[in-house]
Amino acid sequence: MTTNPLLTYWTTPFELPPFDKIKPEHFEEAFETAMAEAKAECDAIAEQSDRPDFGNTIAALEKSGERLTKVARTFFNLTSADTNETLQQIERDIAPKLARHSSDMLLNEKLFERIAELWDQRETLGLHTEDAKVLERYHMMFQRAGAGLDENGKSRIAEISQRLATLGTQFSQNILRDESDYQLVLETEEDRAGLPDFLLTAAAEAARERGHDGKHVITLSRSSIEPFLQFSTNRRLREEAFNAWSARGELEGETNNAKIITETLALRSEKAKLLGFENFAAFKLDDTMAKTPDNVRDLLTKVWEPAAAQARAEEQKLSKMAANDGENHTIEAWDWRFYSEKVRKEEHDLDETELKPYLQLDSMIQAAFDTATRLFGVTFRELDDIPVYHPDVRVFEVLDPSGQHVGLFLGDYFARPSKRSGAWMSGFRSQHKLNGNVAPIIVNVMNFSKGAPGEATLLTFDDARTLFHEFGHGLHGLLSDVTYPMISGTSVARDFVELPSQLYEHWLSEPEVLSKFATHYKTGEKMPTDLLDKLLAAANFNQGFATVEYTASALIDLELHLLDSPDEIDIAAYEKAELGKIGMPNAITMRHRIPHFQHVFSGDGYSAGYYSYMWSEVMDADAFGAFKEAGDIFDEETADRLLTHIYSAGGRPDPEETYKAFRGRAPKIDALLKKRGFAA
Ligand SMILES: [Zn+2]
Repeated sequence: MTTNPLLTYWTTPFELPPFDKIKPEHFEEAFETAMAEAKAECDAIAEQSDRPDFGNTIAALEKSGERLTKVARTFFNLTSADTNETLQQIERDIAPKLARHSSDMLLNEKLFERIAELWDQRETLGLHTEDAKVLERYHMMFQRAGAGLDENGKSRIAEISQRLATLGTQFSQNILRDESDYQLVLETEEDRAGLPDFLLTAAAEAARERGHDGKHVITLSRSSIEPFLQFSTNRRLREEAFNAWSARGELEGETNNAKIITETLALRSEKAKLLGFENFAAFKLDDTMAKTPDNVRDLLTKVWEPAAAQARAEEQKLSKMAANDGENHTIEAWDWRFYSEKVRKEEHDLDETELKPYLQLDSMIQAAFDTATRLFGVTFRELDDIPVYHPDVRVFEVLDPSGQHVGLFLGDYFARPSKRSGAWMSGFRSQHKLNGNVAPIIVNVMNFSKGAPGEATLLTFDDARTLFHEFGHGLHGLLSDVTYPMISGTSVARDFVELPSQLYEHWLSEPEVLSKFATHYKTGEKMPTDLLDKLLAAANFNQGFATVEYTASALIDLELHLLDSPDEIDIAAYEKAELGKIGMPNAITMRHRIPHFQHVFSGDGYSAGYYSYMWSEVMDADAFGAFKEAGDIFDEETADRLLTHIYSAGGRPDPEETYKAFRGRAPKIDALLKKRGFAA
């Protein structure tokens, strides 16, 4: 009998991983055992003498490798949200082995023959919609992994996959190191000039965590650096902090990502060509709603033109504001947020520091929950005393309208040095019905600056929007109602997956939601109506900047993956030249510069896929219109359709069809342009 807690049956509440017993050193054995088990299961499916049918091949594959899934999800959630040197070492070691394991399965000839035979007979098998979809996914997955290639092709593909896994791991670990190595310690009054109380409180907390008790520390976490750039009147420090933020992944030395990037791009390009595509973007997009690089470029260009024009107009206002202050320098990247905040104050009489006391983390969590209750009838109950992987993690049980268990929701909200930057949704277990009803365990991970001990954590409006965004993904996982893990929850096309998350953000900006949950952290008073009105009126403020920084990243991600010989480029020079071509304003940098573009290089999730947010936004802006047209943002009938066709459907339906089923027609871009203030 093994004593390795990863390999025993989990008797924890809701079969959560037994976090209090798991030690980093358990993973190696657990991975070895689970991979061997998964391989044996897979071989048995491939080698059986029975003719292939859906049950003995596809359903059997869906049931296989269960233990490996559990171990891997536990591991990768930890390495993202609470890593350490031991876990990082194991990660570097295990990433290529897992890639190898996966290649062995996907390139297994006998297995592919069985799948291909079923695929050829698909019309006559009498499959249900969902079974047919899962068969299609398997066939596509094997084909896209190289199953149809000759021996040489297959072995080269396997090599490439392994190497890419190593490069992706290294890329992320380098960023995390650059981020945790940097801290701006504010020593003097002059260093702290202009900083509002909420930021000083958070900076004091960050200092305490990093062993600088009594001082203030600004970190490269978005919730720390962005408000610093917004409020610090110390231009020299703004420049210093901005440059550190912008240089992640391109510092000289061990953590420099340049070689990792070019090698990654070259291998991706080679893989795409082996599989018969002109380039990696064409390969990647073949399995999305957008279908082709041209379609992606079309959409991005449609948005780029009005956005860049608007950004230039915004910059002029900032320059004027600086001149009024007696500053005669041009606006640089480290000035934008600072002067933009001033212009916002002037134009909309809106001040972030006035807003923030009303945006408490706990109330915003409640707002996100309440919105789900009103739309979908689910309720949330916080559970204490459940072992979690870090004391900051909160656990909620999700219940359906009749009080039945739907799943578990974990919220991990605060920044810490052991967590990678950004915000994301992930899961420890996906919903499916292969072994009875298996309930999902979903996690949202954020990087908010923590309030002082005993004090409320206060968010910016952007933070609150991020919280709603990730919770939208969370609901997509929690409300999933499908049979097979392959198409569960967020397992949908990359450019469809941001629809449930971005759509959810719309409710935060509704007075009906905000006025109820935006209460002052000290007095408990509701946000004054005029402040609420000002906040909503300023919704389109700085959208030129926001759209430009995003769209530049999306365009460059696309162009990088269209390159013919990417191994020959110099990343810094390439980035500069490409930005020049599209007319990038000098004072704006890409939202994610190439050397730290984790969406694209930490794995291939969003590679040639960063445009997905915009693609989904065409749909989410248009979709929210359905509620507006119904005259009620919680309209029951519209919410029912939303649940049926989008939040519970996982990857079962075709994305275009299911969108039409919800909306009654295909999406139109008008709502997006209007939402961003680029059209009347
Ligand atoms: Zn998202």
